[in-house]
Amino acid sequence: MALATIPGYPRIGKRRELKRALEGYWAGKRSAAELEEVAAAIRRDNWASQMAAGIDLVPVNDFSLYDTMLDTIALVGAVPERFGWDGGPVGLDLLFAMARGSLGETSAPAMDLTKWFDTNYHYLVPELTPEQRFTLSSEKPFAELAEARVQGVPAKPVLIGPITWLLLGKMTPHDVELLALLDALLPVYTEAIARLAAGGAEWIELDEPALALDRTPDDLAAVRRAYAAFAEAKGGAKLLVQTAYGHVGEAYPTLAALPVDGIGLDLSRRGRKNLDLIAEHGFPEGMWLAAGVVDGRNVWTNELAASLELLRGLQERVPAERLMVSTSCSLLHVPYDVRTEKDLPAEIVPWLAFAEQKLAEVATLTRAINEGEAAVAEEFAANRAAIDSAASSPLRRNPAVRQRLADLPADADRRALPYAERSARQRERLALPPLPTTTIGSFPQTGEIRTARSAADAGALSPEAYERFLEGQIADVIARQEALGLDVLVHGEPERNDMVQYFGEQLDGFAFTHNGWVQSYGSRCVRPPIIYGDVTRPHPMTVRWARFAQSRTEKPVKGMLTGPVTILNWSFVRDDQPRATTCRQIALAIRDEVADLDAAGIAVIQIDEPALREGLPLRFADQAEYLRWAVECFRLAAAGARPETQIQTHMCYSEFGEIFPDIAALDADVLLIEHARSGEELLEVFRTEGYDKGIGPGVYDVHSPRVPDVPELAGALRAILTVLPADQVWVNPDCGLKTRKPEEVWPALEHMVEAAREVRE
Ligand code: GLN
Ligand code: ZN
Repeated sequence: MALATIPGYPRIGKRRELKRALEGYWAGKRSAAELEEVAAAIRRDNWASQMAAGIDLVPVNDFSLYDTMLDTIALVGAVPERFGWDGGPVGLDLLFAMARGSLGETSAPAMDLTKWFDTNYHYLVPELTPEQRFTLSSEKPFAELAEARVQGVPAKPVLIGPITWLLLGKMTPHDVELLALLDALLPVYTEAIARLAAGGAEWIELDEPALALDRTPDDLAAVRRAYAAFAEAKGGAKLLVQTAYGHVGEAYPTLAALPVDGIGLDLSRRGRKNLDLIAEHGFPEGMWLAAGVVDGRNVWTNELAASLELLRGLQERVPAERLMVSTSCSLLHVPYDVRTEKDLPAEIVPWLAFAEQKLAEVATLTRAINEGEAAVAEEFAANRAAIDSAASSPLRRNPAVRQRLADLPADADRRALPYAERSARQRERLALPPLPTTTIGSFPQTGEIRTARSAADAGALSPEAYERFLEGQIADVIARQEALGLDVLVHGEPERNDMVQYFGEQLDGFAFTHNGWVQSYGSRCVRPPIIYGDVTRPHPMTVRWARFAQSRTEKPVKGMLTGPVTILNWSFVRDDQPRATTCRQIALAIRDEVADLDAAGIAVIQIDEPALREGLPLRFADQAEYLRWAVECFRLAAAGARPETQIQTHMCYSEFGEIFPDIAALDADVLLIEHARSGEELLEVFRTEGYDKGIGPGVYDVHSPRVPDVPELAGALRAILTVLPADQVWVNPDCGLKTRKPEEVWPALEHMVEAAREVRE
């Protein structure tokens, strides 16, 4: 009999219970016991949903209070020195200190946060040194296994695999290989696996998504060494090495030959090449295959007949007795349940599958394999109808935007003048001091703002009253920025719930959920829009607020837009046409907005592209093509501005060094980049490559509540000036400030302006 399983499930809670519990705990309003209670309830609920849907092997320890990479840091005892850990079990507060930084006497900056593969999830980066020792320092996986078993859950404990965990780390010094620590790490994993086996696990899943990236022969040798080491420890349990996010390429023969019991492969569209690998190299006899036929990365209904055909095609090599029907990756990246959505256009609802629906798809496919298609005839018929309705719907096509794209002139993505001439005009127009100070756009989204927005959404606050409220907020932050002496001001984005959603809501072709939350990092969630049809802009989106803000000050106020690539990468995107096509449609909408802001007299327009880098395909061979159209889309949007209007862009959470030429090709007049957490190597690249435009490397980290003082900020700025010429440098924080509290933001900005003054002098 084939088994139904998934690699992981969302964990923020169906109504984001975990978010509230965490934030309550951090604010000192909830006890640790209350937090643990909420967490346990979410786990119970998740497991019950999966069992009710017919999942045979239910992932356990995929849950996390913050991040599973961080949990693994705790598990193996890799707590960085600055947190003053003296061994022993890693407790809650130490865990959160690593994630968020700590205050008071033990003040220490947070660990680095970065993107998980090509998703919009962020993990905490292990900080490693060649001397790193590892000891088992957390009971979490064992406790959660025991908890699940008490509840009768057919538990499949999940760990991040040792290869992936190490390869995602950061080694100091850089020239030491991360995998040099493998031998030191393996005993802890061996111990953990032995304990899970002793705890009654039938299957243990080790996640190795790092195998979906280009891997060297040395990496693959390390994979073999690692998994050979577990053969004994696993005892009676079976090991499943689970990959995700695409095909495993050159790692396939290694993976297939491991002394483990099963391997999990992405067989969705993006991992389809795994099928060729199986065909080419065969599939080992006796090995189980977790066949990820249901796409865990998007929200579109699976074409069940096609998936069944795919699974049947595999059966020659993988008999049903060794088949698991699964999703292509953890369902962490999709919302919980489409049935809770009441306001989606009725026609598109059947096109959509969130986590709950994907469980049903997996279970239905498993039944089709085990009991024959007749047993699931009803489900298959409903599925066929949904697939056909999506394919033929006029909601998908807007002839006008298709025509406009087809007719675009070849130089549509070029600004009217080269940078040198633009910058001369901009200098004259803006008349800024050296080392100009600015921020990235948002100011704290206070309780007051959120309350007003919900009241407006609920109709309790009239549109006029809400507008007046927002104007008050904007006037207030403009006045504060003037008082602090910032040079280029922002309106603070109080009208925006989210930097992508805000635009999507005003564009055609997008749908929105009320409860479609997906975890971004820690307690932070986003509600990605769903792009189901052609994109157009029916009316200006931001001009009104930019104009109002500018009317309150003589200083330049930035128009603030989210770039096309970020809108694309942070949405669930239709998969019936190339992503590049959808992105060009969005670029045209932003271009029109740029032109309207420019015409309204806005002298600086920031087009944020924090997600440009994260759309980068994982495999080198696919990257140039993506970068080509991504850069083109940004330029298409930016070229809506006249030469004397300054285009800024902002990027964060990324390693930019490797895409430096593409960043330069954006041709933005000023680049504001996250920097505070990543050290001077990033800037070295800009210097050695000879970047000639404005650049603002963030002088402080906005992901931590710490308020940096003037000497610290002046030091950061001086460090930047040892690498970059002063006439190019801007002074700004790492990212937007909306998640911070006012009492953290205003003193920090005051110190920043003061530091800039000091260094200027
Ligand atoms: N302008 C946005 C803000 O300040 C940028 C956010 C981001 O880069 N993630 O909030
Ligand atoms: Zn940012």
